[in-house]
Amino acid sequence: MSFAPTHGHLNKTVFLDAGHGGLDPGVVGTSAGGRMVQEKDATLAVATRLMTLLRNDGYVVVMARMQDTTVIKLSSTESNAGAITSSGVHRDLVTRAACANAAGADALVSIHFDGFSDPTVGGTETFYDAARPFAAANRKLATSLQAALVARLGAPDRGIWTDDQLAAPALTISGKTYGHLIELGPPSSGWVDNPSQMPGALVEPLFVTNPSEATIAGDTAGQEKIAQALEAGLQKFFF
Ligand SMILES: [Zn+2]
Repeated sequence: MSFAPTHGHLNKTVFLDAGHGGLDPGVVGTSAGGRMVQEKDATLAVATRLMTLLRNDGYVVVMARMQDTTVIKLSSTESNAGAITSSGVHRDLVTRAACANAAGADALVSIHFDGFSDPTVGGTETFYDAARPFAAANRKLATSLQAALVARLGAPDRGIWTDDQLAAPALTISGKTYGHLIELGPPSSGWVDNPSQMPGALVEPLFVTNPSEATIAGDTAGQEKIAQALEAGLQKFFF
C-alpha cells in the first residue's frame, strides 16, 4: 500500500516493513506491568507512526502491511495447528522484498524487536547486508538508524551487524544455509530469486523479552519515540 506525502515532496520512497503479523507473532514478551507484548503488534505500531512522520516530511511511504496479517495469504500447507510453517515464513519474506522492488523504493526499513532467553539482556542492534553491490549504502543506512535509536532510547548499544554474522541467521528459518536475511540478502536460485534492489536495514530497537524494554515497545509513547528515532535516522541517511 502506497501513501503520498502529506506535506511537500522529496521524490523519495521509503518501504516500511512491519515484521511478522497474523499467525506469525514474532517474539512474545511481558511488560513490567505484566501485559503481554507481541513483536508483531509493536512493529506495526511503530511502522504506522513512522509512516505519518515520513509523509509529513515529504516522502512517499509504502507499507508491507497495515493490519495484523501476514503479507501473503497463507495456503493450506503454510499453516499448521494455527502456526505459520517455515515455507510460509519464507514466501512471506520474499514477497516483502518483491513489494519493496515493485514500489521502486529508495530505502527499505524492516522493523523488528529482539528476544533472548535471559530477560536481563537488552539493547539496540541493527543488521545490514555487506554482500550486495550497494553494501556501502546499506552500512550507511544501518549506521544512521542505529545511532538515532541509541540516542533517543538510551538502551545499550549492541552495534550494527552484517546479516551473515552469528546473530542474524536465527532471524530466518533456513537462514543457516542461505546465511543472509531474505529481505536484505543477495540472490540465491530457488531461495531468493528476486532480492531487494535498494539500500536496506533491519532494526531491532529493543528486546521484548526484557520486561522494562517490553514496556517501552508496547506503549504508545515508546512507539512514538522509536518512530521519531527512525525518522531522524532516515533523514540523516538521505540528506
Ligand atoms: Zn522479528
